Amino acid sequence: MKYVYSFKEGNKDMREILGGKGANLAEMTNLGLPVPQGFTVSTDACTSYYNNNETLTDEIKVQVFEKLEELESITGKKFGDSNNPLLVSVRSGARASMPGMMDTILNLGMNTDVCESLGMKTNNTRFALDSYRRLIQMYSDVVMNLPKESFEGLFDEYKKEVNVNLDTELDSEDLKEVIRRYKSEYLRLVGREFPENPREQLIEAVKAVFRSWNTDRAKTYRKLNEIPEEWGTAVNVQSMVYGNTGNKSGTGVCFTRNPSTGERKLFGEFLINAQGEDVVAGIRTPQSIETLKDILPNCYAEFEQICNILENHYRDMQDMEFTIEDGKLYMLQTRNGKRTAKAAVKIAVDLVNEGLISKEEALLRVEAKELDQLLHPVFDDEDLKSKKAIAKGLAASPGAACGKLYFSKEDVVKASENGEKDIILVRVETSPEDIEGMNIAHGILTIRGGMTSHAAVVARGMGTTCVSGCGSLTVDSKNKTLTSKDGKILHEGEYISLDGTTGNVYFEKIKLLDAEISGDFETFMEWADNTRKLEIRTNADNPRDAKVAHKFGAEGIGLCRTEHMFFDEKRIFNFRQMIIAPTEEQRKEALDKILPFQRDDFEGLFREMDNLPVIIRFLDPPLHEFLPHTDTEINVLARSLNVSFDLLKNKVESLKEFNPMMGHRGCRLDVTYPEIAKMQTRAVLEAAINVTKEGKTVKPEIMVPLVGDVSELRFVKKLILEEAEVVFKEQGITIPYKIGTMIEIPRATINSDEIAREADFFSYGTNDLTQMTYGFSRDDASKFLKDYYDKKIFINDPFESIDENGVGKLMAISEVLARGVKPYIELGICGEHGGDPKSIDFCHKIGLNYVSCSPYRIPVARLAAAQAQIKAKKN
Ligand code: PEP
Ligand code: MG
Repeated sequence: MKYVYSFKEGNKDMREILGGKGANLAEMTNLGLPVPQGFTVSTDACTSYYNNNETLTDEIKVQVFEKLEELESITGKKFGDSNNPLLVSVRSGARASMPGMMDTILNLGMNTDVCESLGMKTNNTRFALDSYRRLIQMYSDVVMNLPKESFEGLFDEYKKEVNVNLDTELDSEDLKEVIRRYKSEYLRLVGREFPENPREQLIEAVKAVFRSWNTDRAKTYRKLNEIPEEWGTAVNVQSMVYGNTGNKSGTGVCFTRNPSTGERKLFGEFLINAQGEDVVAGIRTPQSIETLKDILPNCYAEFEQICNILENHYRDMQDMEFTIEDGKLYMLQTRNGKRTAKAAVKIAVDLVNEGLISKEEALLRVEAKELDQLLHPVFDDEDLKSKKAIAKGLAASPGAACGKLYFSKEDVVKASENGEKDIILVRVETSPEDIEGMNIAHGILTIRGGMTSHAAVVARGMGTTCVSGCGSLTVDSKNKTLTSKDGKILHEGEYISLDGTTGNVYFEKIKLLDAEISGDFETFMEWADNTRKLEIRTNADNPRDAKVAHKFGAEGIGLCRTEHMFFDEKRIFNFRQMIIAPTEEQRKEALDKILPFQRDDFEGLFREMDNLPVIIRFLDPPLHEFLPHTDTEINVLARSLNVSFDLLKNKVESLKEFNPMMGHRGCRLDVTYPEIAKMQTRAVLEAAINVTKEGKTVKPEIMVPLVGDVSELRFVKKLILEEAEVVFKEQGITIPYKIGTMIEIPRATINSDEIAREADFFSYGTNDLTQMTYGFSRDDASKFLKDYYDKKIFINDPFESIDENGVGKLMAISEVLARGVKPYIELGICGEHGGDPKSIDFCHKIGLNYVSCSPYRIPVARLAAAQAQIKAKKN
């Protein structure tokens, strides 16, 4: 089996085997770009490493050394040779990029002899010693897992001793001393000398990179980004080039377009006289790429040209790493750059306008879920006028965030567990260990680090507002305070606001407003709308939500949960009166009081959704949900309802159920209390008539929940038809309306032919359908499903993405049965899955007419529906 590939043997389509970095290094080699040569140890080798109890087989080692020999002959240098030494870097590179989550080691192949001769050969002893120092430090950290602080501490201590601030101020003698101290620290901690044998260094480094696939941070990142565990990483071994040989050398990171806004302009940073990790680690704040034009104009011109070549070749924005060694430019990496949703949309639209990609390709370039970022709030301009920024950092990831300040991942997690919603994480610089906190936070502020520091890259990936490198603020992590230049102090839990678009930081609360769909976003969404076949409706229970959804492009209401209209304090009182009413007469009296509220709300929905369908679902939850449960609460309510405690207590007891989710709810309530169905019919139709009289076109659809047997639907339908006739007669006007049902009980799916005969439409209630198909309680399953994920029994949450093999099969059977008797029956989905791109793809495949989701998911659903159509067409 082949485990190791030289760069010449690969290409960009081999990312499964070579990882993204390896595949692109091969591609750049093929394009004739200046790439330091090397080879890639494949992801298959990683799998083998784990299958063999974390060891490298001899077969793999032999192949590594064969390729090393090839590399020696390409470069004319020899690994471990003190006359003409070859040094290499060892870098991770998985199929999907996982920025900063795994490990890298530079300068491998160095030992005392090599260091000495390298110094002589390059006439730069200082550089050779600095490289050796870095190797010992990285090797100790990455390969040996020794505490980073020990070596960093030694280094800082020494700098203090000799009274210097910057690393670059240390001379050769200083570095010799640092190396001596490092080595004795290594000996002390490991009990062995630092390995002088370069081959041992290389093999150990490859193993360490494979191990770094399984660090906690890498695992968390994979979970967040749905990267499968079994992919593994490849390892790239590449001959070293040096950005730290002096002032004509440097290293940098650059995007071909702005990853935050999408603007078409090189966007990057570099450090003169530095090695790779210095830039990404955010330790020294780097210079902007434009200044390279003045410092090394030839390198800049060549770099610009390479950027063009790469963008045209990959037809996408590139994220590159480069090194300049004594005025010669080398490319170390290129990949399709991570970007915010805002940038993704702009770049997609621009690339279409530049003629590089088609509209369909553009629609596939933006991950549907990410559009959510564009709906994040912005500052209210009016409120902002009266606020003064206290500091300004780099605008690392756009959007506005306002929340309470926390200083560590642990505190963020704790605050969130305590129900805190608006959280801002502040760190001196983020490290990959902070990922969990970064994921929870609504905004991230760092004191150090540039636009390509971890914080910036990760925040952009998550769509979280981020201001980085805000150096005028000081963090005191121990006392949990943030202090501005002019001495203003913020404590943990106090409000701070961040503007990730300008970099401004405010020590106060600022009002946020909802986002608008305009500009490129609007154009992009128009393309999606022209492509998709699925209609997009919204789940909305009140006119306010309906309005938001309409603004985001909803084409009707797919589910109005009428029970949510009763949660208002005044309304719930009448509703409770209805529940405890001992006679039908008294129940009707209570229902008469509820009727006007419902009618008003429905009018609001119909007005907002002029000329669009509005599905109103009859009362669904079990009645006990509307009553209090403790004696004290029962006492209070009994008094206000003017009934005895015992009576109310008895009612509460009598409504108790062991499995309320499978109990007296949905259409079963209408069987017991037909007057509820009648009142709701009247409310819907009177509202429809009133709004029609205002000159609007109303399209009401009445939906009966939780039908398992066609007779249940027949029973409720008869009530609706009878009451409708009465209402139309009273009002002297008839309006068209539909009667349909939810399909959310497995029995209903396999009897969909019978049920379809009685229904104008079906809406799949996949929340209940998932619950009842699996027999998992939708309220409790999350408690034990995490064991299923840990034990790899489940990969996805079936309540989030449709379980295609079970629930999905039932839906598909239902669709065939229903259309068999009624070809044009309207079919939709209103469970939470209606806003999940993967489930939307499935709904498209089985031929539903629409998906319905919460207002803020509407744009996501519009794009996902377009993507489903494009993919289906391709297949
Ligand atoms: C469903 O069951 O999927 C549904 C939409 O109804 P509810 O969530 O209100 O039970
Ligand atoms: Mg339901």
